[in-house]
Amino acid sequence: MADRVLAGKAAVVTGSNSGIGLGVAEALAAAGADVVINSFTDAPEDHALAERLSRDHGVTVRYIQGDMSKAEDCRALVEKAGRCDILVNNAGIQHVAPIPEFPAEKWDAIIAINLSSAFHTTAVALPMMRKAGWGRVVNIASAHGLTASPYKSAYVAAKHGVVGLTKVTALETATESITCNAICPGYVLTPIVEKQIPDQMKTHGMGREEVIAKVMLARQPSGEFATVEQIGGTTVFLCSDAAAQITGTTISVDGGWTAL
Ligand code: NAD
Repeated sequence: MADRVLAGKAAVVTGSNSGIGLGVAEALAAAGADVVINSFTDAPEDHALAERLSRDHGVTVRYIQGDMSKAEDCRALVEKAGRCDILVNNAGIQHVAPIPEFPAEKWDAIIAINLSSAFHTTAVALPMMRKAGWGRVVNIASAHGLTASPYKSAYVAAKHGVVGLTKVTALETATESITCNAICPGYVLTPIVEKQIPDQMKTHGMGREEVIAKVMLARQPSGEFATVEQIGGTTVFLCSDAAAQITGTTISVDGGWTAL
């Protein structure tokens, strides 16, 4: 087994039955933490996924259904978890449209899931962390928490909001053994990104590979997608003792995007 630096810790990862959330849950479990995974569905495969993680890593992994667009579900998720030493706010959705055509209900959903959910889960988790005398909040923001792109108004606004919330959470816990940081990934090839490829192909009249290289990775100087394993590894680092004095900041995992 890999270094079990998080043995005995309990983690909650929102939106974690696929993509980055699943990669983070897997990395935390591999580091020895018990994990609660979540999404808005309640399918047999969600529970099977929890069992698979539990088996693979020899830790307790539970699936708890909760719709992160609803304040009461966000709060109930952490309450049902019972313990929360490590909170990873990861659930997120995307919609791309110019501002005049941006559907108001999409704006509301993105702000709720990508931003407000982190406020609600953090509000319930902090008292638990204080009781335990230790805690880590890791918010999965984005390169779009630090920079902007056209047609992504709600997403960019929400992710900048997450970076702001990260700083406030860090200041409110600064003198305790609790830290809060945001990871800002560039493009990671997950379902949320896969879904954007056909639209981008249509918009730019390009094939898949050309869209990936010339449009999606145009701002990522490395020319490569980041991986869910890299986001998982960064999360485990932020939860480690080496990161105890890192708080209220952002770590970019973006192949150089924000250096441009
Ligand atoms: P994804 O679509 O693969 O995963 C999103 C997860 O959130 C899924 O598990 C989904 O079930 C869950 N989710 C969606 N709506 C939910 C809801 N209402 N309640 C509970 N769970 C819900 O996407 P991803 O790429 O893994 O994105 C994860 C996070 O990383 C998001 O916050 C996203 O903004 C951020 N991010 C992704 C990239 C990227 O390139 N993939 C880059 C920067 C930031």
